[in-house]
Amino acid sequence: MSSVKGHETPAVPADLAEVDVAIVGAGLAGTSLAAVLGKAGYKVALIDPHLVHHEEFRAEKIGMSQMQVFEKIGLGPAIRPLVTPMTDIHVYRLGQFFQREQKWEFAFSYGALVNGMRQALPANVPLTVGKVAEVSTGPDKQRLVLTDGNVIEARLLVVATGYSEAIRRAIGIERVEESKAHSLSIGFDLAIKPHECAFSAVTCYAKRPSDRIAYLSVFPIGDRMRGNMFGYHTVAEDWTRRFRENPQQMLCDLMPEIAVMCGNFAVASPVEVRQVSLTTTKGHRRAGVVTIGDAFWTTCPTPGIGINRVVNDVDRLASTYIPQWLETPGMDADKICAFYDDPVKVATDEAGMRSSIYAKQITIETGVEWRLRRLRNNTARQLMILGRKFRHAGQPGMPRMA
Ligand SMILES: Cc1cc2nc3c(=O)[nH]c(=O)nc-3n(C[C@H](O)[C@H](O)[C@H](O)COP(=O)(O)OP(=O)(O)OC[C@H]3O[C@@H](n4cnc5c(N)ncnc54)[C@H](O)[C@@H]3O)c2cc1C
Repeated sequence: MSSVKGHETPAVPADLAEVDVAIVGAGLAGTSLAAVLGKAGYKVALIDPHLVHHEEFRAEKIGMSQMQVFEKIGLGPAIRPLVTPMTDIHVYRLGQFFQREQKWEFAFSYGALVNGMRQALPANVPLTVGKVAEVSTGPDKQRLVLTDGNVIEARLLVVATGYSEAIRRAIGIERVEESKAHSLSIGFDLAIKPHECAFSAVTCYAKRPSDRIAYLSVFPIGDRMRGNMFGYHTVAEDWTRRFRENPQQMLCDLMPEIAVMCGNFAVASPVEVRQVSLTTTKGHRRAGVVTIGDAFWTTCPTPGIGINRVVNDVDRLASTYIPQWLETPGMDADKICAFYDDPVKVATDEAGMRSSIYAKQITIETGVEWRLRRLRNNTARQLMILGRKFRHAGQPGMPRMA
């Protein structure tokens, strides 16, 4: 049996002392999985140290494909009221208007999304607010002892604790750092309101590799206009300190082409900065326990694929593996490995890792291969811009192109 440091917890409801599935961690992955399994009639315990998920800068947008998975697994009605939908995204590249993307995206603040999903949990899945003090896993029973002495036994343990290491370490699952401090994510509110903007949403790519910025995305969350900027600086750099101190000036210098439509980048909130590393996992192929979401791998927010991995894990487990596993006795490592080897999961996770690495290389690498790739991409984009200018010359209603 392994121990985890923790403090006080309220009591576990008596009927949750023995469950089919115990899920530790009620972030987006754990809460979504608990909701789907609960609705399907499984006995589920969901445990998290906090009743209310704190407000933090994490994913703030998903695309249509992730929304379709939420709909497919029956969580559409819970998630739809929590998001701000948008379409018609104006994209700027090379300092000029490039194209309008008529694709659906859905924005949210992460804490509100997780809390809303928790409130939509079915009545048979209460959130147990508590910390795990001891955990033991094996081919038949998984046992959790909470810090108040309550015990939960389950046939399957799902670890959905995000970046947190305590439970993983106690079980013997290790994090492997594939790319330390891979990227920097920056979030802030703009002073301008959605109804004052000329466009519903804007994505603006940086112009020079030396800027070490991939892109800025400006979009509405409710009645706020939010900015998410992704790049390849580190938290400790002077650049980051200067950005925190004077975001407006630095944004105007970096992206003057969209400054006017963003209210000259007047910023109305503190600047939130998060450094993200790419990580994988080792020691996870074991009986009785499965890791999901960021507790399994972390990828980079820049290509926007973290939630893709979360919803895919939830879908594969809830639709296929957990019902199969619970049909027969035991929870040996072969059962668990079928999930880790699932071709859709492997492809989704690997695509997320590949695009995290590629996004950085194509933005900042200075070797000949990457300069040539950028030259090829940018030449094709310049031709598209020129072609559009030519076709639309003199037409009213188009954004002014520099
Ligand atoms: C700055 C930033 C921006 C991002 N932007 C995007 C984006 O634009 N698009 C995208 O797709 N992805 C993005 N991501 C990634 C995305 O946010 C994550 O992939 C996703 O939120 C992971 O969800 P999760 O449920 O696995 O983890 P989390 O949401 O972190 O949930 C973990 C839960 O476990 C609980 N917990 C921790 N320790 C314990 C313990 N010992 N016992 C019990 N419970 C515990 C925590 O309280 C928490 O509730 C971003 C990430 C960051 C950091």
